[in-house]
Order: sequence, then structure tokens, then C-alpha cells
Amino acid sequence: MPGFEIFGEEERRQIQDVLDTGVLFRYGFDAARQGHWKARTFEQELAARLGIAHCHLCNSGTAALSIALAACGIGAGDEVILPPFTFVADFEAVLTAGAVPVFAEIDETLCLDPEALETALTPRTKAVIAVHMCGAMAAIDRIKAICDRKGLVLIEDTCQSVGATLRGKALGTFGHMGCFSFDPVKTITCGEGGAVVTDDAERYATAHAYADHGHDHIGNDRGAEDHPMIGYNYRISELNAAVGVAQLRKLDAILATQRNHKQALKAAMAEYGQIQFRHLPDPDGDSATFLSFMLPDEATARRTAQALGAAGADGCFYWYDNNWHYLRQWHHLKQMQTAAKLPAQLYDYCPNYSRISLPRSDAIMGRTISMQIKLAWSAEQLQTRIAAVRQVLDAL
Ligand SMILES: *Cc1c(COP(=O)(O)O)cnc(C)c1O
Repeated sequence: MPGFEIFGEEERRQIQDVLDTGVLFRYGFDAARQGHWKARTFEQELAARLGIAHCHLCNSGTAALSIALAACGIGAGDEVILPPFTFVADFEAVLTAGAVPVFAEIDETLCLDPEALETALTPRTKAVIAVHMCGAMAAIDRIKAICDRKGLVLIEDTCQSVGATLRGKALGTFGHMGCFSFDPVKTITCGEGGAVVTDDAERYATAHAYADHGHDHIGNDRGAEDHPMIGYNYRISELNAAVGVAQLRKLDAILATQRNHKQALKAAMAEYGQIQFRHLPDPDGDSATFLSFMLPDEATARRTAQALGAAGADGCFYWYDNNWHYLRQWHHLKQMQTAAKLPAQLYDYCPNYSRISLPRSDAIMGRTISMQIKLAWSAEQLQTRIAAVRQVLDAL
């Protein structure tokens, strides 16, 4: 990853179809579009790829999360449990819905710890967002069992893990709804884009209406469509969807390349006793976008991350200091800095995020480095990288 590394003639041809017809809108204009339905084609192909009944494409992964929360009826005052290692989009979508983000510890999967999830439950808990971070799976079967037992909505944030599976079942298809992102740096990209998937026909109907001002999309004449609900505009354009169609058709090739590159790096690093790899509940289902590993302590991890950069191994992330993906540096959340006032009940219901203590997550993230696995590495570049990594680890 990212998918833009391998843009080619396929993406160009898909975009040309859209420009040739002039129909950039995903609905209607049936005659003018000459059979080109890019968003619809992407939806059908992604649903088939994942083995799920319904897919709705939208304009971002963040939008997908908002749509999923709405389609699951999550809103004012509901508590939603999520992990502190994710992207800011998750708490943004929860707060925007008027709901309350509640953070629970991660474990060595780098994802939500099922036991910590259980401890975080309160009578107000209505939903869980399980995030499949860095290309691989949370213990989603165990998380799902808890949600089923407690009657909670389960939403999967699969934005970083398209194509990954747990024992053969696609991530994003375990919960009530799965969310995907096809933003510019994801495994496959639309430029900007996202999707929600579900097996539930009713939630799907709500999702696609909600994502387009509440239109019911029955019939082609937009003036005659009904509004069963108040919605919003989360639509994707045909141009973006066209890029996605070409990218989605490359997903298997992308996964194969990532897995080969990761395997070679991992085998070399496995010789070093100080390295502990991220726990993968099912290593075969890893999409292999990242190689994540832990050092014995925080100081060694910081030193190693710096040394890797200096040795030319770029694309190594020390998330603990990163202000996009880990709670520790989310100062805007901690101070509840927003442009407009939040719904009133949030000021009463939200905990003080600057006082949240997640010692186990801190201990794990303080020791963790993730190395991005590139598609475009040549065999020679891969060997150079392995040599650079060895040089750093030899000096530990
Ligand atoms: C990228 C990402 C999102 C949001 O996707 P956008 O398309 O950029 O809005 C949400 N969650 C996670 C874990 C992500 O990595």
C-alpha cells in the first residue's frame, strides 16, 4: 500500500468512460451514461468480494462511520466503546452523532481487548466500534460474542484492512455494519471514498437514503423521489468511483505483493530475540499493509524508530507520538475543542478525556513500531531494506 503506487492504464480507462459520457452523478441520467455505473459497479464487486449482501459507496471512511451509526440508530447520549489506537474519524463520527466515545484498552493485537471491552460496559452502552488497525484483525469473533450476548450494535472500522480475513471470513462482515475507506493513502483508493457493508436489507436501505438527503432512490426521476427521513450528503462522484473500480480489481495482486514483501522482512527480523511481533489471531488473513512489532521498552522503541529512519528504512511509524492515531496526542479531543457547540447532553455525559488513563495501551503503544509495506519495492529495494533493518537491529 498505498494503491496509488500502481495507478496505470486501468484507472485511466475507467475515468475516461465517465468523462466521455459527462455523467459525474451516481444516480439517474440512464440514457446519457451509456451503461457506465461506476459507483454501482464498485458496490456490486466489493460486496461479492467480501461475501456480503449489500454495499453502499460514499465519499469517505468518516462518512461511512456516520452512516453506519445512523443506520444502526446510534445517537444522542448513547455510549459507544472504541479503542484509543485508531484514527480521529471514529470519535469524530461518534460525537457528531451526539453519542459519547468511551475508550477501552487494546491488547497485543493492537486492537480492542475483548476483556477490556466488557469492563467498559455501562447501562448506557449501545454500540462498539472495533477497529482493524494496520491491515489486520481485531479478535472480532470474541468481540462479536460479547456484543451478541449484551445486545449491542457492532460496527467494524475496516478502513485500514480491506481484503483481510479471519479464518476465511472478510473483516467488515462480522458486525451489523462494516466501514471502509478508499482515501488517498489506503490499500485501494478512489481519491476520496468510503463504503458501508451489511447483510441487513433494512439498514442498507437506511444507509443509502441517509447518505443522499434521505432520498428513497425509487425510480429515476429525482423530482419524484420521496424523503422517508432527514439525511445528509455523503455521495461519491462517478469519477472517484471509477478510480476505485480499477483499484478494486487489483486487490488480489496488491495483497499477494504485500504478503511476499512482508514475509521476507518478517523472516529476517524473527532472528532477533528482542523483537516481539504484533499478535495476529489469524496470520493467514493479514492483508500485510504493515509489519508491526514491539521492542522491549519505550526508550529502545524510540531509538529504533529513529535509527530505522536514519538507515534509510522510511515509512516506519512510532504511533505513540503521532497525533492522528493514538489518544495520547489528541489534545483537541482532550480539550473538547470544536468549531460549533456540541449537543448539550455531551457536556454532561462525556468523560474528561484529558484524564482518561489507559496504562496497558500506553505500555503497548510506547513499544510499538509499524513498518509500511510498499507495493512498488523492487526485489533489490527489498533486499536493501532488509539489510538496513538488520544493521539497526544488530546495533540494539
Ligand atoms: C482512514 C481511516 C478512517 C477514515 O477514512 P477517510 O476516508 O479518510 O475519512 C477511519 N478509520 C481509520 C482506522 C482509518 O485509517
